[in-house]
Order: sequence, then structure tokens, then C-alpha cells
Amino acid sequence: MMNCEFCYKDLNTNFSFINLFSFNKENYCEHCKEKLSLKVYKHKSYKLYYLAHYEFIKDKIYSIKYFGDIKKAESFKAALNNFLQKNHFDLVLIAPSNRTREAIRGFNHVKIICDIAEIPYKDIFIEPYRLKQSKLYSERKYHNFSLNKDFTNNIISAKSILIIDDIFTSGNTLESLALVLLKINKELKISFLCLGKS
Ligand SMILES: [Zn+2]
Repeated sequence: MMNCEFCYKDLNTNFSFINLFSFNKENYCEHCKEKLSLKVYKHKSYKLYYLAHYEFIKDKIYSIKYFGDIKKAESFKAALNNFLQKNHFDLVLIAPSNRTREAIRGFNHVKIICDIAEIPYKDIFIEPYRLKQSKLYSERKYHNFSLNKDFTNNIISAKSILIIDDIFTSGNTLESLALVLLKINKELKISFLCLGKS
């Protein structure tokens, strides 16, 4: 029996010989497949790809982010891999989590989702330690990201970079990250991939 990797519903797979030896493994039911189909949105000069509307994935993200329910991260594996098979980037990066919160929770959930999906990403952004989320910061308008300097050459030699984050809201975080990269290589083509967009 095979189940949808997102809603876990039985896929009612008919195990004919054709299905058994087919490489087109069905990961999601028709409903989830449609909900997780790739969408493209233009955010200023950047291309944002996203999988689903925020409402569709919020419970799952919440479970991973706040309860460390790693099993739920598997739901995104096929959709993320499908995207990366069709779109090439010289370098894939992940958005950093607030290190204060990361210290409390002990993990960056975007990293966990990408680890489980076996995405060859680099975790090179450094967000300064913030003791307390002030109102100003909570609006996520002001960021002061920096980079792990060991990767400067990778950024100089790259032509295209993808930055992965969980939910796209204002785009402030992603824009701030892109600017850090553009300071090093202004010719870079930067795209974003988010699991959901509000
Ligand atoms: Zn489903």
C-alpha cells in the first residue's frame, strides 16, 4: 500500500507490472499534487518559486518548527527534489534561523527539511545573536546578516544561487540575504524557493 506523502491518504495504487517498474513513482494524491504544484511570483527583481499557499502547509511547518516533528519534513521531499531536478542552480543556500530561538529550540527547521530532502545546500548565512525580539525586529525589517567567509570564492564563481526559506511573507529576510551576496558578486542571478507564501 502506498500513501500520499503529504496527507497520508491511501493512493489506491494498482500494482500492475507497469506500476511496479515505473520510475514515475507517485508521491502525492491528486489533491496534494495540485496544492503543491510549483508557482512563480515576481518579487522586485527576484524570482520567487513556492510550493503552496501558506494555509495548506502551516500545520505541518508548525509541527516541525515548534515540536521538532521531523517525520513531517518528509512531506516536502518529493516536491523539493522535483523542483531541483528541473531547475539548476550553482549554489543552494538556506535562510538562517534566529540564533536566539535556534538556541532554545536547538535546530533550524529549514535545515531539517532540506536535510531530509537530501538537498545539497550550504548553510553559510550568519544572523547576529539577538537577545530579545524587539517590535522593530519582529517586523523583520532590519537585518544584519553576514557570511561565513570560507564561501566567498564559491559566491564569486557562481552564476546562479537559490535561497530556500519556509514561508514568504514580506520578502524582507530574503532580500536582505540577497543583498549580502550581491555585495560580493553583483552579476549573480538570485532566486528564492519557499515552501509556502501567505
Ligand atoms: Zn494527499
